[in-house]
Amino acid sequence: MSKRCRHILWSGGFDSTALMLRHLRKGRKVLPYVFTNDAGKQPYERLARENILAALTEKERKLILPQYTMDYPTIRAIPAYKHFVQSYMDHANAVKIGPQFGLIRFLQDACDLPRLQMGIVVGDGLWHCQQNDQPGLASFCCRWTFPLWQKTKFDLWQEAPKRHKKILRLTWSCEDPQKDKTCRERKVKLCRPCMRSLEIPMEQNK
Ligand SMILES: [Zn+2]
Repeated sequence: MSKRCRHILWSGGFDSTALMLRHLRKGRKVLPYVFTNDAGKQPYERLARENILAALTEKERKLILPQYTMDYPTIRAIPAYKHFVQSYMDHANAVKIGPQFGLIRFLQDACDLPRLQMGIVVGDGLWHCQQNDQPGLASFCCRWTFPLWQKTKFDLWQEAPKRHKKILRLTWSCEDPQKDKTCRERKVKLCRPCMRSLEIPMEQNK
């Protein structure tokens, strides 16, 4: 077993869970970093994470260290941080990525956290920015690594053994849940993650 622990950003969505499962298959220790805010999908992601952890084998669970939570409402409430946090979020905005990435970079710098692995795959927003050589993006991302950079969601699904496919079905990606249902289940206009979930043949081979 590798002694070195992998620090990964884990939402409970498909890509970050696939990243975690890959490490577990290789017997690697994982320290999950969880970003939380007030978004409507948060309770669903939390439930997904709980269900995923419960579905792992005892041996796999032992490889997962207690999660590090990055809670936006808590950080936002500290006046001394306000200016710094805002400058990181403005920076994220300037390199055209989500403000949550600014907050993550802020915490990494402020708390001297290690490099963080992100489950970015082919076709993601950040992936497109990188392909377009967005000025300033490379330096902003210098404390992150992207082990799934060359992978599509379909690749991640294909490479997972049957038991891990079952776990990937427990993930949550929809950004607009209503009454416990995703856009896909409600048959309404799909949010972007629901649209991307069409790339995964998750409903087959149950
Ligand atoms: Zn959706």
